[in-house]
Amino acid sequence: MNEQLKLLIRLQEIDLSISSLNEKIKSLPNRLKKVMTSFKEASEALEKVKIKYEELNKKKKSCEHGLEEIEINIKKLKERIKDIKTNKEYNAHLKEIESAEKNKYQIEEEILSIMESIEILTGGLKEEDRKIKIVEENLKHEEKALEDEGKALYSEIEAYKAKRKDLEGLIKNGNEELYEKYTTLLITKDGIAVVETSNEVCKGCHTNIPPQLYNDIKNNHGIFSCYNCNRILYCKSEEGKESG
Ligand SMILES: [Zn+2]
Repeated sequence: MNEQLKLLIRLQEIDLSISSLNEKIKSLPNRLKKVMTSFKEASEALEKVKIKYEELNKKKKSCEHGLEEIEINIKKLKERIKDIKTNKEYNAHLKEIESAEKNKYQIEEEILSIMESIEILTGGLKEEDRKIKIVEENLKHEEKALEDEGKALYSEIEAYKAKRKDLEGLIKNGNEELYEKYTTLLITKDGIAVVETSNEVCKGCHTNIPPQLYNDIKNNHGIFSCYNCNRILYCKSEEGKESG
């Protein structure tokens, strides 16, 4: 095979590798997004439970305050019994105490029920806390993994770029215009400048190649382009036969 063509094929392989590595690097943040979303969800769930927990505690305090007031009131009512003169007044007073005691009982019941809810919620709080810690660990782990992966990809790209530099030099030495053509095609033809042809079809644009041109390519005596997409063409099967 034509030496320049061999170099171009190798250059194309390297450029495809670099471009695919760049794509991989670009997609890395997407993977972090997923973990970030679970972290956000876990934080929100924890926050909800926390808010409920605080609300219940507030309610409990307010009930306890109400209970204190009622207890003071009952104490005062009981103290006043000795000052009561008439039976009628006495009965009314007893009723007032009875109603206050009923209130007291109701508030005590409410406090008990709030305490039960708080106990359940404390369990929920622990559970949400446990969950968020796991997600947080995952997030840290994934961040580190992505950082490492990014670094590895970058160094792989650097290695390819070094090889590319050598090839670029070799090709330019032989034919600077050919290198120019290659880079122009790379930009204008979606990163594919050199393409295989088989069964008389250009694999770049899927157009049929005239038999004469196809024979020339198969014989590998020069560098030929697709008359349709202008990509540089080569024939793999013949290469194998030639180089034996
Ligand atoms: Zn073509």
